[in-house]
Amino acid sequence: MDKAKQGRVIVIAGPSGVGKGTVIGALKALRDFRVSVSHTTRGIRPSEADGVSYHFVTREQFRALVDEGLMLETTCYQGNYYGTSRTAVEDALALGQDVVLDIEVEGARNVRRAFPDAIEFFLLPPSMEALERRLRGRNSGEDEQTIQGRLAQARVEIACAPEFDYIVVNDVAQQAAADISGCLCALACRAEERAPLAERVLAGETITL
Ligand code: 5GP
Repeated sequence: MDKAKQGRVIVIAGPSGVGKGTVIGALKALRDFRVSVSHTTRGIRPSEADGVSYHFVTREQFRALVDEGLMLETTCYQGNYYGTSRTAVEDALALGQDVVLDIEVEGARNVRRAFPDAIEFFLLPPSMEALERRLRGRNSGEDEQTIQGRLAQARVEIACAPEFDYIVVNDVAQQAAADISGCLCALACRAEERAPLAERVLAGETITL
């Protein structure tokens, strides 16, 4: 298979409320990829659907998935468990598709260990005020204590931004998605990646990417 056609693991991390889901939605208009649907033990929000936003499971079900070795990475965030299943990622890669993971910082670290070639983005809010507005505005039904917990966790996560490959500011989601797409394109066009194509063109082939 062409190196250019190998699937890549793409991590989109960033504090809760920064708009990862919206940016991933906007990225869909620009590129073809799969989104890994995580498992979580947190309660379902009115705007969410089981199997689409997350696979919503009980703590016992989550524990069983971990014990069976089916999870690639897991984390406990604000008292709830979240995790990426191995098959969600490996099935996409086996088909040569890119797979996008919407996860928090600890998960991003664990994915980096499992997939050193993963490309990791950190989404930064334009300001702490904007992040708080977004957290409060998303109608999650969460109480004040939960929102304060998410804001405190956001400060910890934002301090970790420099360990990522790229930092993208999410002011307008379409622009953030365009920035991510541009970074991915630049990576794929590196001479190191594309050098074999030069040989193939010289050998008379027509290249389709
Ligand atoms: P939320 O409750 O707002 O949907 O998610 C809380 C945080 O957990 C977000 O930062 C989200 O990106 C992260 N998250 C969602 N799924 C996973 C996962 O499978 N693994 C990890 N490590 N974090 C996740």
